[in-house]
Amino acid sequence: MSLNININQNYFNVKKNYLFSEIAKRVNAYSAAHPDAEIIRLGIGDVTLPLSPVVVNALKTASDEMGRAETFRGYAPEYGYDFLRKAISDYYKKFPVDLSPEEIFVSDGAKSDVGNIVDILGDNEILIPDPVYPVYLDSNIMSGHKVTFLTGSRENGFLPLPRGIEEKPYIVYLCSPNNPTGAVYSREGLREWVDFANKTGSLIIFDSAYEAFISGNYPHSIYEIEGAKSCAVEICSFSKTAGFTGTRCAWSVFPDRLTAGENKLSFLWSRRQATKFNGVPYIVQRAAEAALSPEGQKQCRESIAYYMENARIIGEVLKSKGIYYTGGENSPYLWLECPNGAESWEFFDYLLENVQIVGTPGAGFGAAGEGYFRLTSFGSRESTLKAAERLKGLL
Ligand code: PLP
Repeated sequence: MSLNININQNYFNVKKNYLFSEIAKRVNAYSAAHPDAEIIRLGIGDVTLPLSPVVVNALKTASDEMGRAETFRGYAPEYGYDFLRKAISDYYKKFPVDLSPEEIFVSDGAKSDVGNIVDILGDNEILIPDPVYPVYLDSNIMSGHKVTFLTGSRENGFLPLPRGIEEKPYIVYLCSPNNPTGAVYSREGLREWVDFANKTGSLIIFDSAYEAFISGNYPHSIYEIEGAKSCAVEICSFSKTAGFTGTRCAWSVFPDRLTAGENKLSFLWSRRQATKFNGVPYIVQRAAEAALSPEGQKQCRESIAYYMENARIIGEVLKSKGIYYTGGENSPYLWLECPNGAESWEFFDYLLENVQIVGTPGAGFGAAGEGYFRLTSFGSRESTLKAAERLKGLL
């Protein structure tokens, strides 16, 4: 007998995400027909280099502590151990941004925080860039919210600004450096958004998961912009910075000054986390702390430099062929216009069939991604160099 309950009907409004299953289907079919083909995967959005030695040592030491009665720990504090909140607050000093440890809330992933923040917000109008990381849209659709897209294009360099938008309060999602376009907001661009938000009473949810890949003179944190503490939450992660995609640790910043009427958003978030979340494992938080130590930072930077050299190698090929692209300089992603007006999936098949390279069709990240294609620098040097040679011969 079927249940006689009401379910969340909004879930039926979330578009099925065929992207990665469709990629797998096409690659498997190609492999079956060409068993000897050497396929190079430049579509992956996951890191491939191992955790750095400093992080592994911290995991081992903390595991030993957990195995001794005197140093064993049970539930972790819901908002993170003080040592990690302090280490994150110190990390911000170099930008320079001044945040107290109490404004930082440790979690098991930026995806969780991005998805969970809808819990503390009511029914607002939502502005979401297109193309972008799909979790912003899907989590709002699941909550039945009305979403308007901020269209990225070649004209705005995939960095939409608050121009021509009706002045009223919104929840605005910004991702810089952006996944999938790799485009990164300048100080002036972010200032426009912060000024717009403060003028209209809007909240910006700023996803800085890729900030560590920035090498140019761009803001790493939205709090580098004056006035951001009264209008922005920032969500960041150890996933791409320190190879924690499988280890899981991230944080959100709720500045003390961020209020809706009389209510501090940090209070609502504390309440939400304390009710629905039981903290990140001690050993993982010690590992994250190690990643922020001077030696940990050095080792993480080496991994990032490795990926960024891969990005440079792919970028050189695109440049030499006169193909328009964004990203690759301050981001592990390169976002290119499909040559000869090809559609995203057409170009996917063209690369797979002719040079056995797998990328990600831009159309999978939003309607404005049609006609574009994402390549990533998370592969090995060897496969990236091989892919570059193949692309040089084809494009
Ligand atoms: N934000 C963006 C823009 C991402 O691209 C990703 C992962 O790909 C995440 C957040 C998720 O990060 P985490 O691994 O911390 O959940």
